[in-house]
Amino acid sequence: MCLNNFNEIRERIIDQLVSMGIVSDEYVIKALKTVPREEFVPDNLRKYAYLDQPLPIGYGQTISAIHMVAIMTQELKPRPGNRVLEIGTGSGYQAAVLAEIVAKMDPEKKGRVYTIERIPALAEYARRNLEKTGYIDYVEVVVGDGTLGYRDAAPYDGIIVTAGAPDVPKPLIEQLRDGGKLVIPVGNRFIQRLLIVEKQGDRLIKRWSIECVFVPLIGKYGWRE
Ligand code: SAH
Repeated sequence: MCLNNFNEIRERIIDQLVSMGIVSDEYVIKALKTVPREEFVPDNLRKYAYLDQPLPIGYGQTISAIHMVAIMTQELKPRPGNRVLEIGTGSGYQAAVLAEIVAKMDPEKKGRVYTIERIPALAEYARRNLEKTGYIDYVEVVVGDGTLGYRDAAPYDGIIVTAGAPDVPKPLIEQLRDGGKLVIPVGNRFIQRLLIVEKQGDRLIKRWSIECVFVPLIGKYGWRE
């Protein structure tokens, strides 16, 4: 197989996730088939970009496996025009997938992605990746502690946390609009379970999804360093 033909390989692995019943949302399928994951991994790992597993991106952090990005995005259910917040920018890949759906598919609806990263060098790495793939116009990369959320652009239609948390950070619930959704891995430092929280007025509707393994969410409402 020609390892440089990434478009064909990308199409094929996403079709596989569809046939396994892992992803069915048309927006998510289209975005995963569009965003070039190979541009979001370190150069020496390009040929592994479509192995469905996490890959190291430096600083002890990882880009999530393809199926995990698919599942989390599908749980969030972003739509064109949404304003979405991501905690844990890492490579910028998840942010690009979100931006493809909320902004690039229908720019007139003016959707936007805000993403927070605590490690400045990774935020810079993500910015470069988003720039070369044309997503930077729709994504704002912020350096800081994402467990505090990002008040400047709140409220959000959706918030996605891509690091493992001990519990749901309170500021994130506050920054969710009524009817908005939060997707977050909650558990101990080594294993978590995806939690989906829907805000309906004063009520929070919670649902647990699959088990997962993420690097720790470090911050005021996360783990101590
Ligand atoms: N979504 C990323 C992968 C995230 S890995 C991608 O698509 O590539 C988790 C990231 O969360 C790491 O980069 C880590 O530095 C970051 N992180 C951990 N705690 C954080 C916090 N409190 N605020 C912002 N980022 C945090």
